[in-house]
Amino acid sequence: MNEEKKSLNFLEQIIEEDLANGLPQEKLRFRFPPEPNGYLHIGHAASICLNFGLGLKYNAPVNLRFDDTNPAKEEQEYVDAIKQDIAWLGFKWDKELYSSNYFQQLYDWSLQLIKEGKAYVDNQTSEEMAKQKGTPTEVGTNSPNRDRSIEENLELFLKMKNREFKEGSHVLRAKIDMKHVNMQMRDPIMYRILKKTHHRTGNDWCIYPMYDWTHGESDYLEQISHSICTLEFKSHRDLYDWYVNLVYDASKLRPKQREFARRNLSYTVMSKRKLLQLVEEGLVSGWDDPRMPTISGLRRRGYTPNSIKTFSDTAGISKRDNVTDVALLEHCIKDDLNKTAPRVLAVLDPVKVIITNYPEGKEEFLDASYNDYEEGFGSRTVPFSREIYIEKEDFREEANKKFFRLKLGKEVRLKNAYIIKAESCVKDENGTITEIHCTYDEDSLSGSGTEASKRKIKGTLHWVSVKHALKAEVRVYDRLFTDEAPDGHKDKDFKDFINPNSLTVINAFVEPSLKTATILERFQFQRLGYFCVDKDTTENNLVFNRTVPLRDSWAKMEK
Ligand code: ATP
Ligand code: MG
Repeated sequence: MNEEKKSLNFLEQIIEEDLANGLPQEKLRFRFPPEPNGYLHIGHAASICLNFGLGLKYNAPVNLRFDDTNPAKEEQEYVDAIKQDIAWLGFKWDKELYSSNYFQQLYDWSLQLIKEGKAYVDNQTSEEMAKQKGTPTEVGTNSPNRDRSIEENLELFLKMKNREFKEGSHVLRAKIDMKHVNMQMRDPIMYRILKKTHHRTGNDWCIYPMYDWTHGESDYLEQISHSICTLEFKSHRDLYDWYVNLVYDASKLRPKQREFARRNLSYTVMSKRKLLQLVEEGLVSGWDDPRMPTISGLRRRGYTPNSIKTFSDTAGISKRDNVTDVALLEHCIKDDLNKTAPRVLAVLDPVKVIITNYPEGKEEFLDASYNDYEEGFGSRTVPFSREIYIEKEDFREEANKKFFRLKLGKEVRLKNAYIIKAESCVKDENGTITEIHCTYDEDSLSGSGTEASKRKIKGTLHWVSVKHALKAEVRVYDRLFTDEAPDGHKDKDFKDFINPNSLTVINAFVEPSLKTATILERFQFQRLGYFCVDKDTTENNLVFNRTVPLRDSWAKMEK
């Protein structure tokens, strides 16, 4: 589709209206504000693609701002991982910033507010404060501490800052309106005491600003024109505006918060808190376990940055909560790898084939293109010899006409090689087939131009030469959860739906050219699916992750 003609999403419409109403385009500025308390997931990718996409579209800077106001949960490891993931997706941020850069400024402004009678220190218990908050249908009641004198508030706030009080004993609250229809406006907490070492500010502070007090002011300080967040913050918008108004100066731009629906994905969970549980309880191997919906997990699984961006664009953004089918994500990576991944030969569930009329000891190195349908992929040679492996399920002693694979008395083509005919098979005492004896047509080599090579044969099988094949560990993944919405059950924990069979390890044989494959390199194993070299690979142990099988359930649904 032509870029120009693509209809605008509702956020682009808002921006277009602002531009039409006189906002100069050079004032556009966006930000992506992750809290460094976990790794980024595919939901964050929606927000990243949205914000950085707007930056590219309007040639506007996008800041990467770490929302680091809760030292209890935040770590440098997460900061590093977040940067790595955004860069891997291919986006460039303008400035790398931290909410903690503004701790002093926020503190100074708080003093100002106290002096103006707009904030007070409350030392009630959180239960008492919760009781006074009211409900959506019932107004709240004022705290007995609401009318403390300015002097007393200043003194108490200073003591909070100077570590003279215990954690949880005092908070600073904005004095707004306990009867406000919007519960967020009922004297929200601005600061709480947390005696934790912060990954950037160390022990400089023991009072930390709350999300709302921090976010709007940070947007204002950075002069973000459009602060895009997810729907759960819609009710916070009044407060966001109220806080910005406190410090707003007419010569500056007033940031605007707008909300869109979170990206949810079927068959997984997306909250960092829950993903952290999976990691901490050892239910997965780490944040980058290939079954995780994290960017690092998807990367390790074999996903490309392009596939994630296409997924984000295709799923689009919405004003209402919804769940995106994971089949769409799988479709996006299949579609990308179909165009980009070299095609190679690997056998996952092998049975030996002996070609009885092929000379013993002979070996041939056959030309094999990495992609028979597209130019530019190049080629390699694959070794052929008297003994090869094929997939067990590609042979049957007898089968009906629709079985185009190998059966007794019938022929198949071996990819890039010869036509073979099954003559007999050998079984063990349990009746399991251990060897298939075939003959080959020596004039039928693929691409040799002979009459025999042009014979029409319905089935083509993948194979590897026994003598030359490399052993490889192949990790085949299934969904991590058996339920479409594992965290959508009131009476059950999301972990009750963990799929016990989400990982199967297979000892496979792959063609020898894969010896030099590098970590994260992606391939199509012909007729099987897409696979990617895992970081656990060592000199003597080649490890592949199955990214996706070839079958495309999404494409089928779309038909
Ligand atoms: P989680 O609930 O998964 O822990 P979060 O909202 O606490 O996520 P943040 O680090 O605060 O995570 O999010 C950074 C940005 O990414 C925010 O602007 C947030 O709105 C956005 N974001 C987070 N999760 C999603 C999602 N599932 N879909 C779209 N945007 C998201
Ligand atoms: Mg958050």
